[in-house]
Amino acid sequence: MTIKHEIENSILELIIGDITTQDTEAIANAANRRLSPGGGVSGAIHRAAGPQLWEESKTLGGCYTGEAKLTKGYNLKAKYVIHTVGPVYSGSADDSEDLKNCYKNSLLLASRKNIKSISFPSISTGVFGYPVKEASMIALKTIIDFLKEHTEIELVRMALFSEGDYNIYKSSLEKILKD
Ligand code: ADP
Repeated sequence: MTIKHEIENSILELIIGDITTQDTEAIANAANRRLSPGGGVSGAIHRAAGPQLWEESKTLGGCYTGEAKLTKGYNLKAKYVIHTVGPVYSGSADDSEDLKNCYKNSLLLASRKNIKSISFPSISTGVFGYPVKEASMIALKTIIDFLKEHTEIELVRMALFSEGDYNIYKSSLEKILKD
């Protein structure tokens, strides 16, 4: 199952898939503030990339919530990993701003590094507890707004890990496009 939607000269894609096997130039990691492997999607990315990813990550001095840092991809198909730290869901107004910044700062970093394609997992919606429906609206709106202004990024792919998450992102995309 795949959805492709054109925004200006770029493509926004929704797929069901594993972020660690994506062939985009960069993949985003739902990291923690220490940039340590941890569990969830981050653990999976570190396992697939190999131990050099943690070696490089250690030198970066961590990452604040909403910010993004770049490493190489090592054994991954992707040449780069963009590590971004999502908010731990608390129900406060800061959550949405922090989550928006994750996508925005990751895309800005990609653009600065001349990266043309990037895949994202659903940031913060696992252990960090962000409700998927709300998170999907923020993720997609932020990506769409960015692509309207930055035609240098050719492809943004959301790699959703379950059919349930994919269907939620799909409905959110339909809603955003209708409004
Ligand atoms: P966070 O701490 O930001 O919530 P998690 O890793 O706990 O991050 O989960 C974020 C999302 O990534 C969840 O929806 C989870 O199902 C999904 N996920 C876990 N492993 C993978 C993977 N290999 N590829 C894509 N998504 C994944």
